[in-house]
Amino acid sequence: MFRSLHMKLVLIMLLLITSLMAIVGAFLMTSITGFFIEEFYQQMDSVFGDSNPSNAAFVGSLRSWAEEEDVPKMQEMIEAKAGDLGLNSATRTYYILDGRTGAFLAGSEGQEAFDRMQATPNLLTARSGIAAGQDRVGDQSDITAGYMDVAIPITAGESAYIIYIYDNRDTVSALNGQLFLIIVQALLVGLLISVLLSFLLSKTMIIPIERLTEGAERVASGDFGSTIEVESTDEIGILTTTFNDMAAVLQDTLEAVENERNKLDTLFLHMTDGVVAFGRDGSVLHSNPAVSQMLGREVSFYDYDALFGDKFPMKKVLSLQRPDFVSGELTARERILELYLAPFSDGEDGGVMAVLHDVTAQRKNDEMRKEFVANVSHELRTPLTNVRSYAETLRDNDDVPREMENNFLDIIISEVDRMTHIVQDLLTLSRLDSGRAELKMARFSLREALDSVCRAVELEARRRGHTLVRSYGETLPMVTGDRSRLEQVMMNVVGNAIKYTPDGGTITVDAGLRGRRAWIEVSDTGIGIPEQDRERIFDRFYRVDKARSRESGGTGLGLSIAREIVLRHKGAIRLAPHDGPGTTVRIELPIRQEEVRHE
Ligand code: ADP
Repeated sequence: MFRSLHMKLVLIMLLLITSLMAIVGAFLMTSITGFFIEEFYQQMDSVFGDSNPSNAAFVGSLRSWAEEEDVPKMQEMIEAKAGDLGLNSATRTYYILDGRTGAFLAGSEGQEAFDRMQATPNLLTARSGIAAGQDRVGDQSDITAGYMDVAIPITAGESAYIIYIYDNRDTVSALNGQLFLIIVQALLVGLLISVLLSFLLSKTMIIPIERLTEGAERVASGDFGSTIEVESTDEIGILTTTFNDMAAVLQDTLEAVENERNKLDTLFLHMTDGVVAFGRDGSVLHSNPAVSQMLGREVSFYDYDALFGDKFPMKKVLSLQRPDFVSGELTARERILELYLAPFSDGEDGGVMAVLHDVTAQRKNDEMRKEFVANVSHELRTPLTNVRSYAETLRDNDDVPREMENNFLDIIISEVDRMTHIVQDLLTLSRLDSGRAELKMARFSLREALDSVCRAVELEARRRGHTLVRSYGETLPMVTGDRSRLEQVMMNVVGNAIKYTPDGGTITVDAGLRGRRAWIEVSDTGIGIPEQDRERIFDRFYRVDKARSRESGGTGLGLSIAREIVLRHKGAIRLAPHDGPGTTVRIELPIRQEEVRHE
């Protein structure tokens, strides 16, 4: 019940008012009692005290009557002073007592009233004084006692009397009672006011705090948009402003974090490497599409043990200290995957992060490179061996006939030419590979280029008894590209058609425009390319019939160079479907290079 701030405020107010009233009441009541006691003793002093010289005569007369043991006269004298002593008040009585025995002799009340009183300390003081032969006035009054009194010894010769004045303090008690009543009433009114005041205070203090609490709850539930109204400039107002600022900063920070997360999510989603996170229990927490693609199965349906557990037990990976990791290789669906496993976070929320990197292409490249180096070595070794053996024969035999010598030297020259040819082709390929081969782009007439290629091979075709057919018409498009390199491509293709067609064949060169691409087709009626080799004839050093190719001076690099040049022009070169014996090679080229970039 007292947990709410409002109730605490009410309670504090009630306690404050009650304690304040109690302190004020106690102080007032003590002061009033003290005042009455002081007043009482002042009155007594004004009659019996030494301060007033006229008192000496009064006390002297009393003594002389005491000496004569005339109690009535003493009583008469005291009653004469009744006004000064305040004896006419209902609360005050006087008694004339025997100084030695303390027995009642006379008084404003009778013996009975006196007997009801206890032997008070003041009375005992006066009596003990008389017994000791001294005048000791008993005039001490305790504020806590319910009365005030004074015992004045009157001694003369052998006679000793005590004038004892007693006030039962009923006036004080009545006054205090009245005061108490007033204080209680004031307390009740005070309490009522404090309750009302606390409600009023709650309006200015607690309501803003409650609003702040509601705002904090809204922020806690993720709603940063609404700000709390600032109604004052006091501490609560400052707190509210600070809170609003804090919520705004929090919102900005969260937005920044969200942005970063979105960026990471996008990266995670589109990265080519596969990433998958496993919880400590082996379940998949996150995975990107690349993982499922690489492994060929939806990883979220599996757990760690099913995927990698047999090769890399999870316990072992979890026991690693960051930044340590384990790595290995996997094969899935004929793909070679490099796998990296590392623990993330040591606590209960931790787990294992797996990164998969597809190295199939890299491995293939490595293999191709090795194969290429082996091919180059092999291609150069054969002519070199030939050159060496013919040169050695010539050196070691002086009697080689002139004709044979010339023959040998011709072979040496042709082998050197072959090697030069291979080295030149390799250089061209390497330039094309590294992008160092600059293309001299210009617009040229495709028909002119084809004509010039046909003219160049015409002689060779005729020598082989081939019929060279130009099927392309007059209206061929203009093409943008490196004319000499593209002519080199066409020359290679037409040259191959001539080479790989038995004498007396037909070579047809056709061209045209399809959409924005020019096409050239070179068909022959030659030996054709077996189905299993069609895929590979554009590979470096690939030849269907090595002996035949070498015989005709081929290096096995012609079509690879052609493909590189066509690709640099954003075109395509492939084998087209061919009816009957022979081969058709089709080249496609965009007519404008800049349009290609926009496509
Ligand atoms: P090469 O220098 O050996 O001619 P290419 O790269 O130009 O090298 O050709 C690769 C291989 O493709 C040739 O060795 C040959 O076996 C085959 N080839 C190319 N064109 C033809 C064709 N028109 N008819 C048959 N086979 C061909």
